[in-house]
Amino acid sequence: MSRSFLLWSIVVIIVVLLRTAPAASADCPSGYDPLRFYFNLSVIQAGVDPAQCTSVGQVIQPTSSCTAECSAHTCSASDIINATRFNQCATQAFIDTSTFLGQRLCIVRTPGVTHDHVGSITAEPLFRDLILIAVPSTTVFGGNYSRGTVSNINFVASVVTAALAGSDGQCYRTMYGYALHFAIHALGFDRTQLSKWRHPSNPNLEYAAYDSTTYPYGPVKPWNSESTSIMLPPSTTNLFNASLVDGDHRVVLITPNVLAAARSHFGCSTLTGIQLEELGPSEMHWERRVMNYELMTTEFNMAPSSLVSSITLAALVDTGWYVLSTNANYGAEPYAWGKGWGCNFVIQECSEATWRHAFCNATFGVAHDRSYVSRCGNTLLYDFYQEPVYQHFSNLTLGGWDPYADYCPYAGNLSVVESCTRARVDDNVGTSFSNITGINTLAVYTTILNQTANTLANRDVFLNEPRCMQFLCLNTSHMLFRAGNAFYGCQGQYPALSELTFQPTTHAATNNGQLSPTAIPAYGFYGQIQCPNVSYSCASGSTLAGLDSTTFPTLVSIQPMNASIAGNVTLAVTWSVGLSVNTAVTCKGLLLGGQQTNSSTWEIGGSTVKSSLYFQFER
Ligand SMILES: [Zn+2]
Repeated sequence: MSRSFLLWSIVVIIVVLLRTAPAASADCPSGYDPLRFYFNLSVIQAGVDPAQCTSVGQVIQPTSSCTAECSAHTCSASDIINATRFNQCATQAFIDTSTFLGQRLCIVRTPGVTHDHVGSITAEPLFRDLILIAVPSTTVFGGNYSRGTVSNINFVASVVTAALAGSDGQCYRTMYGYALHFAIHALGFDRTQLSKWRHPSNPNLEYAAYDSTTYPYGPVKPWNSESTSIMLPPSTTNLFNASLVDGDHRVVLITPNVLAAARSHFGCSTLTGIQLEELGPSEMHWERRVMNYELMTTEFNMAPSSLVSSITLAALVDTGWYVLSTNANYGAEPYAWGKGWGCNFVIQECSEATWRHAFCNATFGVAHDRSYVSRCGNTLLYDFYQEPVYQHFSNLTLGGWDPYADYCPYAGNLSVVESCTRARVDDNVGTSFSNITGINTLAVYTTILNQTANTLANRDVFLNEPRCMQFLCLNTSHMLFRAGNAFYGCQGQYPALSELTFQPTTHAATNNGQLSPTAIPAYGFYGQIQCPNVSYSCASGSTLAGLDSTTFPTLVSIQPMNASIAGNVTLAVTWSVGLSVNTAVTCKGLLLGGQQTNSSTWEIGGSTVKSSLYFQFER
């Protein structure tokens, strides 16, 4: 046996072990084991489903499960799944979904059973004239406390082929989002399973049986004073039925862990329920106005990187069928929308008051996580959406672009004008806004300009296009933004702010004059910036280590460390910065002993800089 063969054998064995090992060990409470969710992909991979398109022009009759408005489907090229391509980019998404769930959810296993939940995946065309992504159905209940154990998820064939047509990464991400979303439906986050949920304090009992006073309708109740007759959201076919789209079909989930997680996330201790979506597919979804960018809002218009929040995990616990891993590494994903925004945000309709800067009421807005700048994309409402709950503007026929967010205007990912993720390409602050892109950039409302190059008719930050700005976190409570080759502190948190002003929340300074002519004129920047919430943007602490040494050198030593000075003198100080400096970086304005340096010289390619301080003593 050759040595290389032996080596390759070992590699293959390791890969096989990685692929077939049970989901990474969740640390489950006593009596529980990690959930083994198995996706059966063999039907798609083998192409053996008689209701799956294999050739153009093929006519497929509706399956028996299609019960209304069904008609035969004539296959087109976009209905035909290429199994090879599916395995290249989609199969791993299903494997990783199983891993994600197995790391977080624990169950009481049924002895002798290999998989705790089998999701059979098909990709049949749709037999009804609908716009859908998938149709999930849980067909077998059993196991502990009568949970679903077998489900079928039919991803609409053309939806799968569209995903497969993307790059490997796009295909993977799209299919991963779909797989995880519909797996969570199959596990119980679904309207058809709601009546079967067990109270987690006693999973032998369904909610109404456990406490009929608190849960007269089970895990949900009508929103506010609405009638119980609106307990079910309209079905997809009624999406555009004016008599049903009245904003009243609102139901809230009121289960104990969901309430606790939501109260903590939103910062609202009196919250009594989380709204469910009243529009679109009727599987069951969080209301997007409240839970935007969360994976269990409706799959329509969903942002690509939507996350699984602590509130969704809590809902799975509140089925009574699952408990969570105790491993802190396998909890909810970091979820920012609405975090700490308070009761008015969750309970009230959206407005500039309740949504703050997430209310995209100008031409442009910033993403909720400040990863991009996009157009607000507001639109005209159809007549049947002109109900009070969908009206947020003085012009009552105007609304945001996303019906699932109740037409609340927000900067969605559909019309991004600038992503704050590009590699740094240039330092063009002298000719335009200070839009340095590269590592550690955030979208912010700002009108900072180099005063020698540009003027603005109106310096109100909310009337101008937000920009990507490079930022620097010193710690979890102090951050700075870069203009030119200097970082400026936010909200007075760092000394010597120069001519930049930092306004916390309000519109201000609509003139275009220089704001503070006495401060560090060498930098030449002026304008305003609306600083983000530092405790959120800098939640991970210092980002100093993330700056490369050529753009932000590390200070190694200073010479002289101290000096006696009498009279009016210039003191030359040499800084050692460790690595060689390849770009001209000015150090004017650095504070030494409380006094700003007034000139400096970099030795390009060297590792030192010399600064001069002019001391003038009054007698
Ligand atoms: Zn869904």
